[in-house]
Amino acid sequence: MDLFEYQGKQYFARFDIPVSPGGAADTVDEAVKVADASGYPVVVKAQVQVGGRGKAGGIKLANNAEETRFHANNILGMDIKGHVVKRVWVEHASDIEEEYYASFTLDRAAKKHLLMLSAQGGVEIEEVAEKDPDAIIKLHIDPVDGLSAAAAHKAAVDAKIPAKALDGVAKILVQLYRCFTEGDCDLAEINPLILKPTGEVHALDAKVSLDDNADFRHPEWAEYRATEELDSREQLARTHGLQYIGLDGTVGIIANGAGLAMSTLDVVNQVGGTAANFLDIGGGANADVMAAALEVINFDDKVTSIFINIFGGITRGEEVAKGIVEALSRVTLKAPIVIRLDGTNAEEGRKILADAGIPESTLISKPTMLEAARAAVAISNGK
Ligand code: GDP
Ligand code: MN
Repeated sequence: MDLFEYQGKQYFARFDIPVSPGGAADTVDEAVKVADASGYPVVVKAQVQVGGRGKAGGIKLANNAEETRFHANNILGMDIKGHVVKRVWVEHASDIEEEYYASFTLDRAAKKHLLMLSAQGGVEIEEVAEKDPDAIIKLHIDPVDGLSAAAAHKAAVDAKIPAKALDGVAKILVQLYRCFTEGDCDLAEINPLILKPTGEVHALDAKVSLDDNADFRHPEWAEYRATEELDSREQLARTHGLQYIGLDGTVGIIANGAGLAMSTLDVVNQVGGTAANFLDIGGGANADVMAAALEVINFDDKVTSIFINIFGGITRGEEVAKGIVEALSRVTLKAPIVIRLDGTNAEEGRKILADAGIPESTLISKPTMLEAARAAVAISNGK
């Protein structure tokens, strides 16, 4: 789950990472109230989960209540790259001497945590990575050992953080690492991490992504859940308890097991198609789950063919087939299905589908994953 900047800053504050005093506001009047309390000048910042808000006009400096009113009025309701601003964060403006970059993520391949640190912050880090890759240092951290103050200090030296900011940066790295691990983050990023003329180092932005698998031990995350921005397809999938991730392509995908679902995306890609989604109906899925899955896929207007890829282990072929028949009686599918049904009770399943008298224009069965992918992509691409 991705947090908004203001939530990320509140999360940072729990781990003693310094942020500017400020508050969130949904209306112009609230924004002025927060600005008065934070002390002028303030920055008014659009709360949307997309980068480059500054360039889009979503971040403005205000010197008094009148300017705050003007900017909050402009920013609230603004469309930034398809995200409508419903809330602003208003904070006391900082004087900036320098801007740095710091983040922690998990490097799955290395099975370690990864610190990325750069003395060139403020701009998109992808840009730095492209133009001047040596300006970003990467440090793997063994999760058992953690990050010591000395290691953090050395990382800051290696990243060519100037001497006057070294202690401040090193201290924040240790705090940010604690936030990342104890706070169960997938990503904890500060860009920019600033040095003020006073010598203090402090987080001016916050990008935090929480690890959904740790949800059970964070009852306080319910607050973030309430404002979580899912696309409408993902919302529908969640109401059915489905493991669904919306993508941009045209082939709707249903598979059993996350591994098979991923391979299905790959195969669709390999034969020239694009996946509309990832959907894993899990092991042992029954007819209800299949019907719900088809309902979610059918809800996606971009879908022009549906590829159901089932290798039955504990999932049984006849349950899958019953689910499809059930779904077809409930909803009018906007796109045809190509199914590859194999494994446990596949034959029984195929018989149910054949006996249901479903026309070829609605459902085609293919014996292998590759053939099914080809058929689904051909239909989707209008061939
Ligand atoms: P992003 O562009 O969406 O990542 O938004 P940021 O929160 O990172 O802000 C973008 C830029 O706005 C920063 O790199 C700063 O240059 C500027 N900015 C943001 N807050 C302040 C502030 O308090 N004072 C000053 N002087 N500039 C700010
Ligand atoms: Mn930023």
